[in-house]
Amino acid sequence: MIDALFLDFDGVICDSVNECFVSSWIAFHDRYRGDKPQAVGLEYYAQFRRMRPFIRTGQDFLLVHELICEGLSVGTQIEFDAAADRAGQEKLATFDSLLYAVREDLVAGELEFWLPLHKPYGSLAGSLRAAAPNPNVWIVSTKRSEFIERILHYWEINWEASRIALPIRMTKIDTIKSIMRLHDYSTGIFVDDQRDHLRCEPGIGLECRLAEWAHGAGRAGASAVLRPGLERIGLEELSELVSSFGS
Ligand SMILES: [Mg+2]
Repeated sequence: MIDALFLDFDGVICDSVNECFVSSWIAFHDRYRGDKPQAVGLEYYAQFRRMRPFIRTGQDFLLVHELICEGLSVGTQIEFDAAADRAGQEKLATFDSLLYAVREDLVAGELEFWLPLHKPYGSLAGSLRAAAPNPNVWIVSTKRSEFIERILHYWEINWEASRIALPIRMTKIDTIKSIMRLHDYSTGIFVDDQRDHLRCEPGIGLECRLAEWAHGAGRAGASAVLRPGLERIGLEELSELVSSFGS
């Protein structure tokens, strides 16, 4: 039996692609460019979804809108990161604050519209509801914890806020290592959908699992060989694993 479970939120537990699309669309078009297109084309939305697997943090969503508007499509993580480098830190920081400002406005003024934009994957909501009282199941996400709390509450999952960890100026792995030390866990499993976060170190008792359901069959490199120590996990398998932490 594993001592603890560490789960990323967006892309593992929560399908937030529509929320990210809506919030970043308002942030980019309305707040950054000051234009308000009357409609969104299906092809525009399809392009957004195609580039989603390359997104590392919130600011990247606005970069995707900019790339679409400029008629640029990137097909690999390397190309996407090069586009982010070209955009530069100043612009990306502006993108980040605009996105969070939009989210805060939607949460404050249009919560009934904002919450249903988030959907739990498969049967995970039920599994999480069962495992919620277990102090050894953690959420580790770069999304602000107050947003996660509201979404879980909307799904009727009573999750203790102290078990939502937000890595600040450290990697997710380092955040998990410090939780493991603090709680004397000798073994754990960490599930994330962004393989860059899954840089597990040997000898710390932490196994890393890559979740790929967020990105569907079109995930770039889905069939690629993973680095040693990293394995894939299926949605059903994760649901059962989470349920096994239930009472
Ligand atoms: Mg994620």
